[in-house]
Amino acid sequence: MQERIYLSPPHMSGNEMKYIQEAFDSNWIAPLGTNVDKFEEEICDYVGMEHGLALSSGTAGIHLALKYFGVGPGDYVFCSDLTFAGSCNPILYQYANPVFIDSEPETWNMSPIALEKAFEWAKKENKMPKAVIIVDLYGQSADYDALLPICEHYGVPVIEDAAEALGASYKGKKCGSFGHIGIFSFNGNKIITTSGGGMIVSNDEEAIKKMRFWATQSREPAKHYEHKEVGYNYRISNISAGIGRGQLQALDSFIDNRKFIFEQYKNKLKELPICFMPISDLGNPNYWLTVLTLKENVELNPEYIINKLEMENIESRPLWKPMHLQPIFIDVPMFYHSETECIGNNLFEYGICLPSGSSMTLEQLELVIDTLKDIFESVKQ
Ligand SMILES: *Cc1c(COP(=O)(O)O)cnc(C)c1O
Repeated sequence: MQERIYLSPPHMSGNEMKYIQEAFDSNWIAPLGTNVDKFEEEICDYVGMEHGLALSSGTAGIHLALKYFGVGPGDYVFCSDLTFAGSCNPILYQYANPVFIDSEPETWNMSPIALEKAFEWAKKENKMPKAVIIVDLYGQSADYDALLPICEHYGVPVIEDAAEALGASYKGKKCGSFGHIGIFSFNGNKIITTSGGGMIVSNDEEAIKKMRFWATQSREPAKHYEHKEVGYNYRISNISAGIGRGQLQALDSFIDNRKFIFEQYKNKLKELPICFMPISDLGNPNYWLTVLTLKENVELNPEYIINKLEMENIESRPLWKPMHLQPIFIDVPMFYHSETECIGNNLFEYGICLPSGSSMTLEQLELVIDTLKDIFESVKQ
């Protein structure tokens, strides 16, 4: 059987080892060191933000951001519904209540209409959120010119979950720079990886300072380890940060590769009864994953196609299962884009994520395309 084609495997640029070697040479095998400092600076330069805080995960970043905005027991936090659980689990770490906001059809990101409805409810019920977490899904920016004024109007700060969207932009500005605090993930499946890691970016120096303190076990400046507040062990290692520095140098070429893959799928599968994730002309995605949806009258369903691809050793996946459908969040309030349907549910019901890794070869891409054509062909007869 041919080698497995993964959804989004790690892709090393070749420069990572140089920075790892430097860490070994200087014996900084620790959650601090030159690679950590430089990685923070380099990400900030790339994104156009002033301050960065490198962490062990993107989820840790969201947790610290919520804590920074004073989210605590009984508080409310609004969050995109169609996302990965890492976006909203930290709300529960703080014993607060999530409220989920449906997607809009244009980019599949948070619907401004649903967000406005949620704020009207919160105002009436006296449940104003302490923060709004807006996700940039599958590497495409949310519509910030529509979303941010609503949050500003109600005086609620925004956390931008750009875990999937490093390198994407909206009206010329990079994702991660739209909220008061932005977060990235460098998990193994993301567009660049540190084998596991994350980053907070912000122009608010005080905020970064405070979150850095919490992320480093809230150590007061005393030799004997003095603690006045609860702390976390959330920093990234100097080795991992070295991988990140090598990866960042290749990011723009990774985006080019993923865009090429998206365009090949789109051109070569245009005869099939499918749609691709719409690309808004307000921004440039990083094309992290190519995602398609089946047209509603098609006899096939995603599960069937995913299993058929699996038989050829090709990894594909359904979309993120919307958070309001998850057993753990079943009682959470949810606000919809439309009166008659849930956009996120529809996408989940009909959507498939295709292999999109920047290291995928042309032969592998052709194989996925031909296999998909065969699957659709086989049900016609
Ligand atoms: C991956 C991801 C996270 C979590 O990042 P980790 O580094 O895995 O903790 C959060 N939100 C979204 C949208 C993600 O895709």
